[in-house]
Amino acid sequence: MNPLTVFLRARYGKGFASREAIAQHQQKAFQHLRRNIMPRSPFYAPYAGKPLSDWPLMNKALMMEHFTDINTAGISKEEALHIALTSEQERDFAPMIRNIAVGLSTGTSGQRGLFASNKRERALWAALMLGRFSPSFLQRQRVSLFLRANNMLYERLGNALISFEFYDLLQSFNSHLQRLADQQPTVLIAPAQILGLLAQAQKERIINIAPRCIISVAEVLSPEDKNAIETVFGIRVDQVYQCTEGVLGMTCRAGNLHLNEAYMHIERDIIDEASGAFAPIITDLTRETQPVLKYRLDDILIPDNEPCPCGCASLRLKRIEGRCDDILYWRTADGTLRMIPSDLIRQAMATAKTGISDYRTVQHGQQLLEIWLEAADYEQACAEVTRNLAAQAVSVKAQLPELRFHTGIHMQHDQKRRRVIAKP
Ligand SMILES: [Zn+2]
Repeated sequence: MNPLTVFLRARYGKGFASREAIAQHQQKAFQHLRRNIMPRSPFYAPYAGKPLSDWPLMNKALMMEHFTDINTAGISKEEALHIALTSEQERDFAPMIRNIAVGLSTGTSGQRGLFASNKRERALWAALMLGRFSPSFLQRQRVSLFLRANNMLYERLGNALISFEFYDLLQSFNSHLQRLADQQPTVLIAPAQILGLLAQAQKERIINIAPRCIISVAEVLSPEDKNAIETVFGIRVDQVYQCTEGVLGMTCRAGNLHLNEAYMHIERDIIDEASGAFAPIITDLTRETQPVLKYRLDDILIPDNEPCPCGCASLRLKRIEGRCDDILYWRTADGTLRMIPSDLIRQAMATAKTGISDYRTVQHGQQLLEIWLEAADYEQACAEVTRNLAAQAVSVKAQLPELRFHTGIHMQHDQKRRRVIAKP
């Protein structure tokens, strides 16, 4: 797949009309993978002729362990780590080894991943994003990228049609505002939390920007945040579900999130039959420098089986539930564990009449749920949330854990925001 094809498909393609069309398309891509990519990877070469079910299940830790043998560019793990760590200390976002960009992913769990890509792979990303989201090609687009990950070589992808400005989330947020105001982006790409802060700054007239496209990446976009951002900027917020491992999904023109099945084969590791919640096992059909094959992500996705008005048959997602580790479980009367969707917690907060501006929850085992609240009337909010959660527990036939309330949420821009956290 070349960048032009990817661009044209994203810009003018109507998506796949049926599941059969997806299967057919993927079958061809698998042939290419088996013939041209896998034989160049010492780790995967022995599996090139074997069925998918025989391929090893990959994850972040295994990928790190076998990095040297997995990549097709002959880069050793030691060499890649050295370059990535040095450049990270120097906040240089363009570490290269023989035209291959290397970087370390952050990851909320502390476990870090090593990733390598060549120029064509990075261009595919830009082609996909621009094809789908660029407002127009009649004028030069100015793209603002707020990201915490390093290995940001996107600025180098700039050309006559487009310029990229990178905003490093490890630097102070306020220092970015003037530059952003000067840049006047036409396309704004940032994690949901940062979009929320930018909307706030715009509302308070600290900045005055008029992006024509806003894309939320890297963390869960709640309906409340989405509304707040859309109200301030007056346009729809689109979502791109991506991680270092690739672009897993994006919103369609009807505003619904679809998995990116044109470029990824996605198997489901079902963790909750009732909702269909699953952890995706991805096989990226475009990567060549570092094959991502049968790679299990730690995310939990909730499928939406309704066909989308846009006509594309790629699987729709109701939402990205969060990380596997952050799924809450409450005990039922018969002693089994019941998965509690983060949406249920969100609703308990959203329906409080006191008006809760922000919250965090941390659950310890199944016994204790700690809740941090920001509300005008804190006491009243605690009482309402307790009532709401108790009602939710009854509705799912589970026992409500002990609740403990706190005020004062500590915000860190450089960390992924997780509103719901589970601890063992
Ligand atoms: Zn759609």
